[in-house]
Amino acid sequence: MKCSCEIIKDLLPLYVDHVCSDESIELIDQHLLECEKCKSYMNSLRESQDVETAAYDEEKESRKVKMMLRMKKKILFRNILVATFTVLILGAACTSAIHYLKRTTVPIPETKPMEVIYENGDLVLNITDAIWSDVSGVRFTLTEDGKSYECVAVAMNTSKWNELISSDKTCSKYTIAYSEKGANEIDRVYYSGDGKDPEYPHNGELNENDIQALGYTLVWSK
Ligand SMILES: [Zn+2]
Repeated sequence: MKCSCEIIKDLLPLYVDHVCSDESIELIDQHLLECEKCKSYMNSLRESQDVETAAYDEEKESRKVKMMLRMKKKILFRNILVATFTVLILGAACTSAIHYLKRTTVPIPETKPMEVIYENGDLVLNITDAIWSDVSGVRFTLTEDGKSYECVAVAMNTSKWNELISSDKTCSKYTIAYSEKGANEIDRVYYSGDGKDPEYPHNGELNENDIQALGYTLVWSK
């Protein structure tokens, strides 16, 4: 069957898109073998289809790239947010931990190395491996075998933080009595290891046993 160029032209778009029946394909193939005009029309259709496909692919590709960029930005933003929160939370945790350690008071036990010396006329207690944060003391007179002794009992506290940062190279100093306030009158220094205010012993015939019962350890005597 011979077909007119007009019918072929109508069918060619379907032919190019591979959507016509086998019968039409046969017809068109035959016609194209004989008709240069229709053949060149088909070529132009194919070319324009290629261009369209390329344009479509390009658009699809650019949409994909844009989407990936958006996703990357989102992920980056989320990561920055997570990192910022982590740093903030860690910072807050560290600060409150340090604050807690600095606030928590612990007694400095009598087992810490300590020495009492005169320094420029002052009576000074040097304590190693400890940094005292507060000190309480009591001055009293002890009468033993008819003799009177001027005594000082000292108790020291530190913080958990100071406990952590102190070492055997740490030495902290406390002036028990200044020279102008009768440092040379002190005969004995006791240390009270529980960190509480040393109990004031009643004046009288106290002996070492009574003093020990109060929790005092003799750390220095003249
Ligand atoms: Zn034709």
